[in-house]
Amino acid sequence: MNQIPWTLDSWRSKPIKQQPNYDSQDELNEVLGQIKSLPPLVFVGEIEALKNNMAQAGRGECFILQGGDCAERFQDCNELSITAKLKILLQMSVVLCYGAKKPIVRIGRIAGQYAKPRSNPTEVVDGKEVPVYRGDIINSFEAHGDARKPDPSRILQAFYRSTATLNYIRALTKGGFADLHHPQNWDLDFVNKAPKRQEYEQIVSSIQDAITFMESLGAKEDKLHSVEFYTSHEGLLLPMEEALTQYVEEYNGWYNLGAHMLWIGDRTRQLDGAHIEYFRGIRNPVGLKVGPSADPREIIQIVQALNPSNEEGKVTLITRYGEGKVQEHLPKMIDAITESKLNVLWSADPMHGNASKTDDGVKTRNFDSILSEVNDSFEVHSGKPSNLAGIHFELTGEDVTECIGGTAGIGVKDLDQKYETYCDPRLNYSQSLEMAFLISKMLGK
Ligand code: PEP
Ligand code: MN
Repeated sequence: MNQIPWTLDSWRSKPIKQQPNYDSQDELNEVLGQIKSLPPLVFVGEIEALKNNMAQAGRGECFILQGGDCAERFQDCNELSITAKLKILLQMSVVLCYGAKKPIVRIGRIAGQYAKPRSNPTEVVDGKEVPVYRGDIINSFEAHGDARKPDPSRILQAFYRSTATLNYIRALTKGGFADLHHPQNWDLDFVNKAPKRQEYEQIVSSIQDAITFMESLGAKEDKLHSVEFYTSHEGLLLPMEEALTQYVEEYNGWYNLGAHMLWIGDRTRQLDGAHIEYFRGIRNPVGLKVGPSADPREIIQIVQALNPSNEEGKVTLITRYGEGKVQEHLPKMIDAITESKLNVLWSADPMHGNASKTDDGVKTRNFDSILSEVNDSFEVHSGKPSNLAGIHFELTGEDVTECIGGTAGIGVKDLDQKYETYCDPRLNYSQSLEMAFLISKMLGK
């Protein structure tokens, strides 16, 4: 790789993918200027704390749960939706903690997950070819008139919604909402129908006992009452990410202060491309999505570019091969990374390799395929010197009907009942919690 000196805007000289074409650069610059003048979303100390947690996860001392919407929608920046997402992530983390017997680091795909990479620049809606929806930060999901035109003012709207979302998350996680750890606050209806009902009930009652015991020791005020929660999004829309990036004197480095962690998508991870160029200059923990097309030699070079000092906790390889493909691809990737002595964390995203379409053309994913990819990922790592340090899900705390399967029994015919996602299908509340029970067992092995 031909490296140029890194500057905040050196990515601008590299080929770039998945960006909108704005009509007016002046309007775009005006919005970016406003974002630069506003206070950032996160504090550098939090970013470093997360990186430290991630280094621990890489050593097997804790486990990472990353999850949230595929694409956050502006209309979901409201109390109910944020509360539901936080609730399911906290509850899953308690269940995983029970199985793993180690702390869980929680990272939401939230407070900024507004930009989407797409497979095609256009799509056909109601018989008409229109530009594709690229996330609420760029254009509207509505397909009429000019609604799909990229609009720079949406960047500012997204920024304000990210601050409102994060503000509310901070209130909930510091103000006692963490009491939702308590299984008595969980919706466990699906457990009654589960074939593994007894097993789940046993887990729930053990968690209940453990929490009651800790509360009796007086742990409630500090540890149980407030929890750490980090934010993340795909760093796709680089002008926006640049505007969120600052040099922090105290830490002697550049940080993206718009999220604690960011990841690079499978479609924008070209070694010589703009995204890798931007990301190699920032100190946040960075995820890299790794799909079936990833060549281990290229991934090695990318990891070296992103993390030249081989710092622990800095790079997470988020593999997303798809059911039945993990055995073929993951061992080679692990061997290549191990031989190069690169410090990475391994996480599994069992969602993005498992998309399917119903006969009616509705995008869905099957609970069993998702579970199977997680299981295969654990198995492959267990036969290698590496370890699976985390999982990455698209989920929501609401009762949507987007993925099929799970004990709640959502079938193809149920999908239109509450299908809300603008992009990829998410696990709903009970599917997510059930997934956590099943993964908890894998972690306990
Ligand atoms: C995503 O995480 O929403 C996504 C688009 O993933 P990937 O880059 O792995 O396809
Ligand atoms: Mn997605």
